[in-house]
Amino acid sequence: MPTTNRIAELSGQLSNEIAAGEVVERPASVVKELLENALDAGADKIQVELEQGGIRLIRVCDNGSGIHADDLSLALRRHATSKIRDAGDLGAITTLGFRGEALPSIASVSRLELTSALEGEPGWRIDQEGCEPAAHGRGTTVAVHDLFYRVPARRKFLRTEKTEFNHADTQLRRIALSRFDVAFSWSHNGRTLHQFRVAPNREQQEQRIAQLLGKDFVANAIYLDVSLAGFRLYGWAVRPVYHRANSDSQMLFVNGRYVRDKTLSHAARHAYRDILYHGRHPAYLLFLEIEPTQVDVNVHPAKHEVRFRDSRAVHDFVFRTLEKSLAEGGRAGVGDGADGGIPVEPAGLAQGQQEWFSEQPTLLTGVGRSHQFSPPGGYNLAETQAFYRQLATPSQELSEGQRQRERFSEDQPLGRPLAQIHYIYILAETPRGLALVDMHAAHERIVYERLKSQYGELVTQPLLVPVNVNVTDAEIRLVEQHQQLLADLGLELTQSGPQQLAVRAVPALLNRDNAEQLVRDLLDELAQHGSADQIQQQVDACLASMACHGSVRGGRQLSLPEMDALLRDMEQTERSGQCNHGRPTWTELSLQELDSLFMRGR
Ligand code: ADP
Ligand code: MG
Repeated sequence: MPTTNRIAELSGQLSNEIAAGEVVERPASVVKELLENALDAGADKIQVELEQGGIRLIRVCDNGSGIHADDLSLALRRHATSKIRDAGDLGAITTLGFRGEALPSIASVSRLELTSALEGEPGWRIDQEGCEPAAHGRGTTVAVHDLFYRVPARRKFLRTEKTEFNHADTQLRRIALSRFDVAFSWSHNGRTLHQFRVAPNREQQEQRIAQLLGKDFVANAIYLDVSLAGFRLYGWAVRPVYHRANSDSQMLFVNGRYVRDKTLSHAARHAYRDILYHGRHPAYLLFLEIEPTQVDVNVHPAKHEVRFRDSRAVHDFVFRTLEKSLAEGGRAGVGDGADGGIPVEPAGLAQGQQEWFSEQPTLLTGVGRSHQFSPPGGYNLAETQAFYRQLATPSQELSEGQRQRERFSEDQPLGRPLAQIHYIYILAETPRGLALVDMHAAHERIVYERLKSQYGELVTQPLLVPVNVNVTDAEIRLVEQHQQLLADLGLELTQSGPQQLAVRAVPALLNRDNAEQLVRDLLDELAQHGSADQIQQQVDACLASMACHGSVRGGRQLSLPEMDALLRDMEQTERSGQCNHGRPTWTELSLQELDSLFMRGR
């Protein structure tokens, strides 16, 4: 028998090298492991030095608890850890590390030097040569020289110094973003790149985020912090208008650990689903806190992945929390005017919402109020002036401040409409400056949100003369299959011929003129989202398509009260900052921005 068929135990060195294959892919993975150890040791100050992308040197110095002198050599031994003791501990991990593999693995593929001291104790250093006294304050310094110098196969896979540095830098950024209670600094080839102090409050945290993720991220993000039923989700998520071409800026931490998890990323994607421009990605920095017993982190050697005990509950919580926060944060004007808002009593133009698009009273039933302010026809300067004079004529004695208060109402951040521009945009004077509103996009969102909230009990409007639509056999079958869904959507369709459907009723919210096109689009949607488990997507897609048809088109003349009612509706509608396709519905130019355009006050 050839000797190769016999079994023999591998040497410690070899088994460590094999473990290193999983844990130590490149300098960035060493950085990650060393920083995790420093954080586990309770450090609140961590300094990192890199040379040649980390290939030549990675040195991490922390002020954590330090390692007992007698344990130094154990720290480099495989399966030796201070973080768990028995199987019970494995079920509720509260540290980042626990496998006792990182240091021995790294030591097996590099020249590693470990120096450490406990509070008030002398320091010790250990390396391949042995152990000796060394000067060190409380904490630990690990220096990793010449990574993979003994493993040419591995070394070959390393990319350029620059690429390796970028990977390490990504790790460092991620970790610096995950712990605002820790000061971090890092340098490359002797040049300091970042230095962050501890950031105990949100303002300081946002400064750190701005440096690491960009000012735009912070400017466009909403902050949320929601705790419910044993879960807490907090952090920053961007408003949908700030979408990205890729998903790089999506960071989610579970109990402080960065993870790439399908459940979580799906929940987040889902929360953005009908407010994000097609094919684009949101950006977020979110922290999920959950009972350690509810999550298994021991599913991946580098611990990139986790498994939730009840992934459905986690998904639901993250999805709902994020969706709600985005909806509230995305309401027109909400959260935008915090700094410059003018305190006002309700007054001025809108004494209640008015019906708009008055020739189409069915378009927005339920919102309609009086027509008493409606000047005839569309925009007309003289009439408009008279119209305003009749409502809110400021007396000559009023101070500028009082006049401001007269003009704007606190709950109307979109201000008052002045005119329509090219029959596409509405120009409004706002408390802060001026706003431009894309009327079709805005209306589409309003109708969509209203359809969604009334879904299942939509009031239908019978058509006096049913509209016939010619269809295929397959489409007839689709209609039969989806009877209930169509009924819930407020549509009544019956077969009126071998290849013909009759539309007998449509939702009262919608414009009846487009019944045929509406039905055609719905049939397309139904054919596309075939399976039953996509029912919610199907419903949303149908409602979105209905909203698009039911909404006012560009090119239509609106009266001032109609415009006003649209603005007021936007203020009341969740997610009204974006249309159903994720495009912004309005934009604002502040007085400051206007002043700078005209170089006033310079
Ligand atoms: P693990 O982190 O999974 O326990 P490691 O191989 O990374 O395994 O580290 C082994 C042990 O060495 C740790 O359990 C810890 O006790 C100790 N250790 C490593 N790094 C540090 C550090 N920076 N400060 C204090 N103790 C450390
Ligand atoms: Mg570790």
